[in-house]
Amino acid sequence: MSGVIKTPDTLEKLSVLSKDAQYDLACACGTNEADRRRRSNDDKWLYPVTLPNGGSSVLFRTLISNVCVNDCRYCPLRNGQDCRRVTLNAEEVVSAFLNYLKKGKVFGLFLSSGVIGTPDNTMSRLISIAEILRKKEHFHGYIHLKIIPGASDAAVEQAVSLSSAVSLNIESAGESHFQRLSQTKDYMKDIIHPLKFISHLTGKERRYHRVKQTTQFIVGASDETDSELVRYMGGLYRKLDLSRIYFSAYQRGLGESDIPGEKMGGSNHELLMREHRLYQADWLIRKYGFSADEIPFETNGNLSLNMDPKEHWAALHPEQYPVDVNQADRKDLLRVPGLGPTTVVRILRERASGSRFHSVRDFGPPHARLTKAERYLKFS
Ligand code: SF4
Repeated sequence: MSGVIKTPDTLEKLSVLSKDAQYDLACACGTNEADRRRRSNDDKWLYPVTLPNGGSSVLFRTLISNVCVNDCRYCPLRNGQDCRRVTLNAEEVVSAFLNYLKKGKVFGLFLSSGVIGTPDNTMSRLISIAEILRKKEHFHGYIHLKIIPGASDAAVEQAVSLSSAVSLNIESAGESHFQRLSQTKDYMKDIIHPLKFISHLTGKERRYHRVKQTTQFIVGASDETDSELVRYMGGLYRKLDLSRIYFSAYQRGLGESDIPGEKMGGSNHELLMREHRLYQADWLIRKYGFSADEIPFETNGNLSLNMDPKEHWAALHPEQYPVDVNQADRKDLLRVPGLGPTTVVRILRERASGSRFHSVRDFGPPHARLTKAERYLKFS
């Protein structure tokens, strides 16, 4: 019948909102880089993830609303954009999630949202869902709540008290880059203050020390270089003790035509490669003992697109190689391109029990990574 506007049901809303949630990757449970863009083929709000213990499971992840009063110029959901706006109420989210949970299809929930009216109004909607699940439904599993920029300390604390993990996207490496992207958000007040406050609540020996905090940069929307992003990332890990930092490559065409990211050269593929290289730099800092100052960059301030940052560092420090597998300490072994923490632990363990290594074949079955490592090693 023409002229009748049908109210969307929960599945229709989920279908719209989960599509929009794909730009937000900052989930603390996916340990695998690929996890954050994988979605179920059918119910696209279900995300297979690798758990920190190596197992795998599925996360129910959605925005509760794609309505937003903000003007983030890189975001397809910004105020004034012509897109289909829908909002899920608490009952809809709870009942859809519990339905999947009872069938054993999901293990946890990741909720985010556009800003409906005010930050605290949006926070109270997110919090009420977590509250129903925790207090009424006695769900004790994984809940990740997005903290809305500009949320009050009271709302942040309430969200933290109900969550396994929280995240607030930092978006840019510093205020000046951020100002090119939004006029409605205040970088220091709306983003940096709550990030610090969450860190205060979740720090070591604090009441909520079990709650993880993560954040996300958007790569290539503004004009910061990778070196600025890496320096900022190092500071966030050091000063705010974040669990993880994520990167999301800006995809050209989604934002306003005059933002820096639209005017700069390079394809979307290159932006995804920048994102990939930033994750590699992040691994070097978190798992390989590199400091942010040691990460090498090209003369344009970005990470090399042609080689990973560890290989780049090795190329700039030929005097450090070859590394002697039978003598070197952990730090030097971890600097060998192609050797990861697991292999290094094995080498050290076997050396401690008296074994000696004669070639990379002693590390395990042939693999491209080991072939790469071979030219940086010697076996005394
Ligand atoms: S706050 Fe900004 S990034 Fe988030 S949904 Fe609104 S416009 Fe998009």
